[in-house]
Amino acid sequence: MIITEQKSFEEILRMLEPFNRIFIIGCGECSTVVQTGGEEQVKRMAERLRSVGKEVVGAVVVETPCDARILRRDTRNLKDAIESSDAILCMTCGAGVQDIVEHLKKPSIPALDTKFLGIIEHIGEFYERCRACGECILYETGGICPIVRCPKGMLNGPCGGMYEGKCEVGGYKRDCAWILIYNRLKELGMLDIYRAYRPPRDNSRLNVQPREVIWVKT
Ligand code: SF4
Ligand code: SF4
Repeated sequence: MIITEQKSFEEILRMLEPFNRIFIIGCGECSTVVQTGGEEQVKRMAERLRSVGKEVVGAVVVETPCDARILRRDTRNLKDAIESSDAILCMTCGAGVQDIVEHLKKPSIPALDTKFLGIIEHIGEFYERCRACGECILYETGGICPIVRCPKGMLNGPCGGMYEGKCEVGGYKRDCAWILIYNRLKELGMLDIYRAYRPPRDNSRLNVQPREVIWVKT
């Protein structure tokens, strides 16, 4: 799940300052679940914008705005309203904003900050769990990601800053990722993997930006 957080209304208004006629696009996937850009939030945003004198010419929650095919499908019947707007307010993650501006050719304003790939414990309680590093090693770590959960990205067990299972970074409040990994592997009967040496990661592979995945038919 892509975790997003709504920007302050003041910041949104600052970005919308040059524009009067606004079209709003929400997201029917992650932003709906996280409650930052679903039907309710889009409706509420339209009301707030109207209350400060903006003209909201239309709004839609696109099923998956980061998928160009779905974006085109869900906005097909709204072309006139979108065309008549000065700008689109996007209640989507950053990928959604970029897809919207590329395909709808309108100034597109992000209403949300995209935070991380994470899990939802409860609504309002989100935890980062993956940094999309491109080379997943969760099998070796009992399903606990050391890239995200260890502030130093240690790959072969705890650093010297671990004390009684806690991490020095942040003042010994959080569990050391490698203690969590050890306990998980033990629970799974996979401690052999813990003992194996993990070589440094191939950063030349990871740091190529922007990354792409292109299937080649065989
Ligand atoms: S190793 Fe961690 S950051 Fe990399 S893909 Fe797996 S979960 Fe994501
Ligand atoms: S104490 Fe553990 S989680 Fe903290 S930096 Fe060291 S290895 Fe990483």
